[in-house]
Amino acid sequence: MGEKIVTGQDYIDSLKGRDLQVYLFGERVEDIVNHPIMRPSINAVAETYDLGVTAPELATVISPFTGESVSRFLGICTSTDDLVLQNKMQRKLGQNTGTCFQRCVGMDASNALYSVTFEMDEKYGSDYHDRFKQFLTEMHTYNYVVGGAMTDVKGDRSKAPHEQSDQDLFVHIVDKDEQGVYISGAKAHQTGCINSHWMLVMPTMRLSEADKSFAIVGAVPVDAEGITYIYGRQSCDLRAMEGGHIDTGNNLYGGQEAMVIFDRVFIPNELIFMNGEYDFAAMLVERFTAYHRRSYVCKSGVGDVLIGAAASIAEMNGVPKASHIKDKLVEMTHLNETIYATGIASSYQGYPTDSGCFLCDDMISNVCKHHVTKLPYEIARLSQDLAGGIMVTLPSEKDLNHPKIGALIKKYLKAKDDVSTEDRIKMLRLIENMTLGRNAVGYLTESMHGAGSPQAQRIQIGRAMQLEYKKRLSKVLSGIEPEDSRVALDELTGYFARVFSIPK
Ligand code: SF4
Ligand code: FE
Repeated sequence: MGEKIVTGQDYIDSLKGRDLQVYLFGERVEDIVNHPIMRPSINAVAETYDLGVTAPELATVISPFTGESVSRFLGICTSTDDLVLQNKMQRKLGQNTGTCFQRCVGMDASNALYSVTFEMDEKYGSDYHDRFKQFLTEMHTYNYVVGGAMTDVKGDRSKAPHEQSDQDLFVHIVDKDEQGVYISGAKAHQTGCINSHWMLVMPTMRLSEADKSFAIVGAVPVDAEGITYIYGRQSCDLRAMEGGHIDTGNNLYGGQEAMVIFDRVFIPNELIFMNGEYDFAAMLVERFTAYHRRSYVCKSGVGDVLIGAAASIAEMNGVPKASHIKDKLVEMTHLNETIYATGIASSYQGYPTDSGCFLCDDMISNVCKHHVTKLPYEIARLSQDLAGGIMVTLPSEKDLNHPKIGALIKKYLKAKDDVSTEDRIKMLRLIENMTLGRNAVGYLTESMHGAGSPQAQRIQIGRAMQLEYKKRLSKVLSGIEPEDSRVALDELTGYFARVFSIPK
């Protein structure tokens, strides 16, 4: 079991010597920790621990189970402040890494499961909530990384899980005995799965009675028997294999996604938190996405880095004062803060569930994530505008270091007198990394599809938009309906009940 993890280095050490089945480029990876493509993603997770050391008020909480300090990523929110502090931590970590630090899925899944297990027990008299608290106690004792595995590979999108010609296209129970259940199936693009110690496996969508065997939630150690990981390659990932440190753009940090394949993986009874209660699958998915869609304020932290890079390159080019450049930086900041504002608004509008765990506002969380599917693309476009075409026609680091042509590059790619050509290239490579390279995976495409693609947010916004109430507002003011048909504040439900609630 080892010692409690406190620092980033403790965390890195905890990953050594594990026997995981990880494949990349057609080969099994033996040394994950020192693999040049994987290490930046490990460094990003390590940063979540180091922030806990340097800013404990931001990145740690006191565990109600152990009484000791643990990562905020393992905390259960018991106030709106807790929800807001998650967002502040996410923004800071986005700033520190310029990429995805991979821990929010487990954090958001834990909070969702905390309340859903409580409500399942209330309905069915089960003991999932106590089991889950027991699991959290174990996680807090060692301060582990818990990942979440939700997105099934899904097969034919028009069919329910039980209708698929190959049932393994959704993770499901294939066998059971006195001790527990066995699951098979695959989860796609799982963020940080290999960098976690444990994984929470959950259903991906609303389920019906016929899908009962797909209604399974459980915790599995990442190195459980029967799990295979196939590492997702990322744009420009091979640059990390070239041995330099400039062409990668961000040599220290990167994200990680992999496909996780379960082949009869055993989950013992004490680690099962849903088993057949298909009627709670939608609640679990919706609460998870409510948390997770405002967790995407992480992108505002990443956006801060990109805005800084755009401002820096303008300065290096000698044009920081040009009015159109200042205006573009203002526009980037406006878009970036729009993401942050909606994320923390969702947290500030949080409310307690029956379990005592606070849930954030679903409507604004979806608005936040919907912004995230669009605004980073515009911020990235403006950063490329400020960078200039040289960002994609730059010579390589090896050319820069070449005894003959290196001097030519230094001479002809010089901009301002007091800025070295090498520094200018580094800044351009960072912008390339974030808008076209490895970290564009996190900043752009992951912004589009992570935590649900844009249409998923539009569906939720459509469900929660309370048009009947809005129509009555218009009918009363236009004189179609009498004034006494106004809806009183205490009759309001859903989103508007939260909008008008007065914090106590
Ligand atoms: Fe966290 Fe953002 Fe990465 Fe999702 S994309 S795990 S919210 S850092
Ligand atoms: Fe994500």
